[in-house]
This record gives sequence, structure tokens and C-alpha cells, in this order.
Amino acid sequence: MRVKGKVAFVSGGARGLGAADVCLLSQEGAAVAFGDVLEEEGRKLESELRAQGRRVTFIPLDVTDETQWRRAVAGAVAEFGGLDVMVNNAAVGGAGSIEETTVEGWNRVMAVNVTGVFLGTKVAIPEMRRRGGGSIINISSQMGIVGSEMSNVVYQTSKGAVRMFTKAAAIHHAKDGIRVNSVHPGPILTRQMERGLANDPAQEGYYLDRVPLGRLGRPLDVAHCVLYLASDESAFVTGSEQVVDGGWTAQ
Ligand code: NAD
Repeated sequence: MRVKGKVAFVSGGARGLGAADVCLLSQEGAAVAFGDVLEEEGRKLESELRAQGRRVTFIPLDVTDETQWRRAVAGAVAEFGGLDVMVNNAAVGGAGSIEETTVEGWNRVMAVNVTGVFLGTKVAIPEMRRRGGGSIINISSQMGIVGSEMSNVVYQTSKGAVRMFTKAAAIHHAKDGIRVNSVHPGPILTRQMERGLANDPAQEGYYLDRVPLGRLGRPLDVAHCVLYLASDESAFVTGSEQVVDGGWTAQ
């Protein structure tokens, strides 16, 4: 029980890597609130985990909306008594070349991937300060560290911004005992990714060529890193970027 007694919030927790975080953190003893725009999936995961005796609650949330963020975190605090861990995981992909990208498309990705992380951090800070500290975990990507022809410029820019926001927030809030770290997954085989690979099988070869460990990642590979950062085992870790990419960025 590595996070027993802690209260965590995970954004974008209804599916994919966020759902793996919700499952692992609750399995390891945390009470976990999670938000998402996918209400049906969120409710389904909530009832599956509650049936296993986990303390979890789903709260509808659009991370681009500050009012919804305030309501969601207030709901988590009311139900579980405080907030110790915030996992800013929700994100969307982009598409197209720079010339094809519209200002609206650019702003949409930045609103979810960057403003969403800023707002999740903003609402978490006063709650964590009240507890004497906390851990904020921002999910970036290996695409936030190195360029890639397989990705697109707005997604990569947004993930680079998450990396730098994390370091700035870590410095600003170290005195509050609030640790802030980013996690940089490489290609992870979620259901969404499986669908993408089925539509474009060449993608898998491209990824495998760049992963020295020779396989795609699993959602649990990332969730274990999130668990470490959420737990007191990482008490001296802040402002760091944790790569979980099979070695992609090491070469
Ligand atoms: P996913 O699309 O399966 O999950 C993202 C979740 O965020 C979804 O449940 C979605 O509904 C939610 N979301 C999107 N917009 C939202 C909004 N406005 N408000 C609230 N929730 C919203 O993707 P995933 O692969 O599980 O990715 C999770 C995180 O990991 C993302 O930050 C992503 O950029 C990052 N990541 C994933 C991979 C990968 O290979 N899967 C690699 C690197 C980084």
C-alpha cells in the first residue's frame, strides 16, 4: 500500500493511461477522484472499481474550464477530506502540418494540453498547502523533449510547454512542500493506440525502430512511474522529467 491514506485526483481518467493511474493508485490505498469529458466511460470505471472495494469517484470535467475544475476539486475534497496528489493527464492530439493548422485548431490543443495542466495545478495548490504539501504529476510525452516527423507541431509544442511549466511550478512551490514533476511516456499501447495502429500499420515499425527496448510500452509502465511520484518514496524529487519511453530519448 504505497499511497495509503492519500487523496489523488486524475484528469482524463476515464480511459487509457489515466484509467491505469486511477486503478493503480486506488489499488495502492489512495482515495481517487477522477474527471473526464467521457461521462459514460468514467461512470463505468467508477462502478467496476467500487465493486472491488476501491475508494473512487468520477466527476464530469472539461479541463479547459476553471469553474468546472473548482467544482471537481471541491467535490473530491468534500468526499475524501483533502488533496495530496494531482495527476494532470488529460490531453488531445493534433493533426496536420504547420501550414494546415488553423488558429482554432492550435488554440484547442493548447487549451486542453497546456491551459488544462495550468488550471489543474492552480486549483490543487491551495488544497495541498492546507495539507502541508503534495505532489503534482504532469503527463507530457517523449514528444515534448525531441521532435518527430510522426507527430505534429501543436502537440509537440503543448507537451514541451508542460515540461517547462512543471519546472517553473516546482521552483515556485518548493517552499510549500509541493513537488511538481513531469512524466514523458513513449509510445504506449492503449486501446486508442491499438486502433491507430490498425489503421496505419507502418506506425508500429516506426515506433519499434526508435525504442531500444524493442517493444511498445504498457499503460502500467507509466502508472508505476506516477505511483512512485505520488508516494513519499519520491520525497526529494521535484522539477524532474521522468522518461518512460523504452530509451527513445536516450539516443
Ligand atoms: P486517451 O485519449 O486515451 O486519454 C486521454 C483522456 O483525456 C481521455 O479519456 C479524454 O476523454 C480525456 N480528455 C480529453 N480532453 C479532455 C478535456 N477537455 N477535459 C477532460 N478530459 C479530457 O490518451 P492516452 O494515450 O491515455 O494519453 C494520456 C496522456 O498520456 C496524455 O497526456 C497523452 O498526451 C500522454 N501520452 C500518451 C502516449 C501514448 O502512447 N498513449 C504517449 C505519450 C504521452
